[in-house]
Amino acid sequence: MISVAEAIQIVRNQTTPLPSERVPIGRALGRILAQDIVADSDLPPFDRAQMDGYALRAADVGEPPVRLRIVGESAAGRGWHNELQTGEAVRIMTGAPVPAGADAVQQVELSHELRDGTVVEILEAVETGRSIVSRGKEIKEGTTVLRAGIPITSQMIAVLASFGYAEVSVGQTPRVAVFATGTELVDVDEKPGRDQIRDSNNYTLEAYARLANASVERLPLTADEPASLARRIKTAAKDADVVITSGGVSMGIYDFTKSALKELEAEIFFEKVTLKPGKPTVFGRLPGGTLIFGLPGNPVSVSVTFNLFARTAIWAMQGANEPVLKPETAVLAKSIKSAKDRETYFPAQLFTNDDGQLVAFPLNWGGSSDFVAFASATALIHLRAGGGMVEADSLVKVLRLPQ
Ligand code: AMP
Ligand code: MG
Repeated sequence: MISVAEAIQIVRNQTTPLPSERVPIGRALGRILAQDIVADSDLPPFDRAQMDGYALRAADVGEPPVRLRIVGESAAGRGWHNELQTGEAVRIMTGAPVPAGADAVQQVELSHELRDGTVVEILEAVETGRSIVSRGKEIKEGTTVLRAGIPITSQMIAVLASFGYAEVSVGQTPRVAVFATGTELVDVDEKPGRDQIRDSNNYTLEAYARLANASVERLPLTADEPASLARRIKTAAKDADVVITSGGVSMGIYDFTKSALKELEAEIFFEKVTLKPGKPTVFGRLPGGTLIFGLPGNPVSVSVTFNLFARTAIWAMQGANEPVLKPETAVLAKSIKSAKDRETYFPAQLFTNDDGQLVAFPLNWGGSSDFVAFASATALIHLRAGGGMVEADSLVKVLRLPQ
């Protein structure tokens, strides 16, 4: 058996990034950036007014009130391109270029116009530089503003657009085939008969894989029967970079996933992890190069093992620098028991208390089959093996679940 960290390292080692592709900016959200983003201009590109008011020379208004002659107007997109002289003011709007010769903007609230708008009375002094963002103050042309390997967030779209990236290079998304195995399973639109249950893993896997940007093919349910299982894995692998199955990886006499993989001559990298829930997780590679994850059947195990292992592969294939979920530290709200010989990933809700601390509230959870309690989980608490109680108020590592 190997630890979760070792298993994740194996997944990373066995995963190679796919080539990049170019997508229009409107389709870039959530994708992994495959190029550095460089500023093609200074920001702001000219000395920019930060307020509506009057561009002037600060030295002219040292002893207010002072009257200045209004010689022009600078609006956003339509500047005044002469040189302002002493005793003059230019009416200016937020976002407009500050004319040469001016060194401050006094806001409109501290001034008023006289004589049909030919003169402005400035009511308060203003220091040099006030309400002007000088050219290049925010970013200098040629600066690398975003680095390859990060997911593109909504906040980054403005950066791409402002520096002219109509298209952006991103990591190709892997094709993922998912299917659930189990003779007891019926599809969501069927009423389970005697001894049957509805499949949920097929849809859960599809949802998680999509959330990780993969293009997903969800295949039909497969019975616990070695020949059809091997056939299904083989077909699934044909058009996929990654195959993810659920069920049939434990020690029961009807658990056939591993024997099907052996029959297909897959290379198996691991088949047991010191993890609760999710110990019998299998990871390997099929002869054609397709990676395969055989996840355990219990719905919560599927979620935990997908997010620790399969998600890592899917993100790494897109070229993500950090394909793993990032651990954070939280205060444990209620004591919980660790498992004796396995690391536990315990479902929890995260919230921030009045002191700004992150608090993890372990769910009242009935184990790996309790997907109803798990539905309200927002994170997993990581407990080391040991078997002891982890007391309330202690600091624990948590992983936020992608939503
Ligand atoms: P297994 O890993 O095949 O031994 O399955 C473990 C448990 O998870 C059993 O109770 C199964 O009935 C249940 N299970 C397996 N596959 C699914 C699925 N696709 N959807 C919901 N429950 C499942
Ligand atoms: Mg089964």
